[in-house]
Amino acid sequence: MEVCSLKEKMIEKERELELLNEAVDKIKNPKLPYILRVQQSILRAVDDYMYKNKITRMMPLMMAPITDTLNHSVEESALFYQGQEFDVMKSMIFHKQATLMNKGLEKIYIVSPNIRLESSERGDKRHLFEFTQVDFEFKEGTMEMVFEFMESLVRYVFEFIKKECTEEFKALGLTTDHLELKDTFKKYRTEELEEKYGEDFERIASEKATEPFWIINHKREFYDAEDLDNKGTYKNYDLIWPKGYVEGLSGGEREYKYDRIITRMREINQDEERFKDYIELAKRGELVKTAGAGFGVERMTRFICQLNQIDDATVFTRKPGKEKYIF
Ligand code: AMP
Ligand code: MG
Repeated sequence: MEVCSLKEKMIEKERELELLNEAVDKIKNPKLPYILRVQQSILRAVDDYMYKNKITRMMPLMMAPITDTLNHSVEESALFYQGQEFDVMKSMIFHKQATLMNKGLEKIYIVSPNIRLESSERGDKRHLFEFTQVDFEFKEGTMEMVFEFMESLVRYVFEFIKKECTEEFKALGLTTDHLELKDTFKKYRTEELEEKYGEDFERIASEKATEPFWIINHKREFYDAEDLDNKGTYKNYDLIWPKGYVEGLSGGEREYKYDRIITRMREINQDEERFKDYIELAKRGELVKTAGAGFGVERMTRFICQLNQIDDATVFTRKPGKEKYIF
């Protein structure tokens, strides 16, 4: 019995050292400095582009009484501050909508750290439980406006990277072929891709594509606007990175009218109590028409650096489902 537990202890200790070494190896990855430099260049190009287009930058929030309801479940992450329940920020969607109540603000963005305690099944190549998204929202925005804006932003970022990151690309053994954009991004509807490729349409379409493209019409959170001329379809969209790198951005035109918000919330049994102040603002007609989106910085880095997995874009692992996290 004693020998056995001693042996077990030794195995456990060994495993702990292995995990520690893994974390050290990750930090010491010789490619990491180049990957981080490319990521820095992405953020610099994004800021530059936003500044030139007069998109006002806000600071991020890390916790709030309301946050993105998401369309998949994550582990519980409630926090309490002075007796009030908060949650960690999953996305600033409601804060973007609320900010645009200010008459002097038309277009805003945030480089926004998000925490989503993803289940271990999401310990795949494209999910982290902590990541950063560039989140933007435009007053009087439309889908078409976001398509044009994002496409132009992607072109700007890619051109900047091609110009500024030659040394990094050489060190990473990369060409810039995947950053050559010829056509305007194609637009597909979920129903047409599903018919063609079945349930796994996003992955298959991404694998077949050589340039980024849009997928329009997803049934998901209550705040993405339903197309009232075509009930049961939605004015929302994802930007898909090609070559199997899949979703890079999600967004939509938003519901902002009281009756629409209530209808959509009830359809999915959304907890209205938690949103009662938000609902009150909608009832008063304070919320305005907007459209926007958010794209993951690490996912863009993964595509640009053609990394095997998103976790290769981080210094410290944030891959869901690991047996232990050192840092
Ligand atoms: P969403 O609105 O939930 O689609 O999130 C906006 C964008 O953030 C996505 O299109 C991804 O680029 C990125 N993103 C979302 N969840 C994760 C995650 N768990 N890990 C890394 N990036 C993510
Ligand atoms: Mg999404």
